[in-house]
Amino acid sequence: KIQLAQRVNALTPSTTLAITAKAASLRAAGHDVIGLGAGEPDFNTPQNIIDAAVRSMNEGHTKYTPASGLLTLKKEIAAKLKKDQHLDYDTNQIIVTNGAKHGLFTLFQVILDKGDEVIIPTPYWVSYPEQVKLAEGVPVFVEGYESNEFKITPEQLKGVITSKTKAVIINSPSNPTGMIYTEEELKEIGNVCLEHNILIISDEIYEKLVYGDSKHVSIASLSPALKEATIVINGVSKSHSMTGWRIGYAAGNKEIITAMANLASHSTSNPTTPSQYATIEAYAGPKDSVEEMRQAFNKRLDIIHEKLNKIPGFSCIKPKGAFYFFPNVKKAVELTGYATVDEFVAGLLEEALVAVVPGSGFGADNYIRLSYATSLEKLEEAVKRMEQFVEKKM
Ligand code: PLP
Repeated sequence: KIQLAQRVNALTPSTTLAITAKAASLRAAGHDVIGLGAGEPDFNTPQNIIDAAVRSMNEGHTKYTPASGLLTLKKEIAAKLKKDQHLDYDTNQIIVTNGAKHGLFTLFQVILDKGDEVIIPTPYWVSYPEQVKLAEGVPVFVEGYESNEFKITPEQLKGVITSKTKAVIINSPSNPTGMIYTEEELKEIGNVCLEHNILIISDEIYEKLVYGDSKHVSIASLSPALKEATIVINGVSKSHSMTGWRIGYAAGNKEIITAMANLASHSTSNPTTPSQYATIEAYAGPKDSVEEMRQAFNKRLDIIHEKLNKIPGFSCIKPKGAFYFFPNVKKAVELTGYATVDEFVAGLLEEALVAVVPGSGFGADNYIRLSYATSLEKLEEAVKRMEQFVEKKM
């Protein structure tokens, strides 16, 4: 029998994938399952971006690039950071990664020693704790209460900082809650980090998906000291509907970025070359499609949010960004006689044929996550099915 490494045994399997697999098997058996588990936009990648990739391949750009990415792409990323966030970075402070996920993974590998702590606000994106553990770090959770829009306060942050704290993760707009930190809140959190000399990892992957009069602010843009203390993580997966192209980036302290590039040179060699050319077009080309997708999400959000709150036992604060609803379903679980949210979610899938993700995977047991990265028609049908499911069992 093969003995796997300890680090693999410590990995928690993804709840999202478990639901997706179950939904797929029901679908294969002929059931009309509506999947609201997806973490990716349902739109095609804009055609100009696809064309740029094809062109690059025809022009012979099918070989290795520098491990940290093409210089031309880094220049475009620097220009984007300047234009969107008023942030000035040299190209040697930027690394192109194989998706934001890989950027984060590489970052943890180069900043964490065994036992170093990373503060992760809950509810969190599923991969943060696992990636920290893979780098032999220790995730330290701090609860973002629903009453504070799932955001942590500076006092809470202070309360969990120890001599081993290396970094804190700020994900705004947030997956799974869709909440956004205001400039004032970020300033206060940033000050605590500066006082205690801890790094800020700012995951801004949902930056472009912000609705109503909400605004995305990068914590790095709030002062030169905060810029110095922050590593910005971003990418094109969500903004340009490019999840499969696997391009993200990290920007910040030159030593950290250089270490990440060294690690990449021995692990991935480089992000896929045609994808990098596609991303140059994404950043340098027309932006209409980004805005069109945002508007489509905004419309779904407004329509479905209201309907969701009419389901007995569901209570959902209105998301301000990203493309997820994160309703509290504690009452619905009680009303329907299930023992846990996980069991409620299993029932919802088997009987109502709607796939959602239980909050347990995000460190928030009383909630479920529904993605609205699917058509309005399907969303409306899904809400109807969920409502009937709950009402039938009450
Ligand atoms: N960060 C958050 C909060 C996400 O939700 C995701 C994707 O689900 C990522 C990072 C990773 O994105 P990428 O496709 O760029 O790896």
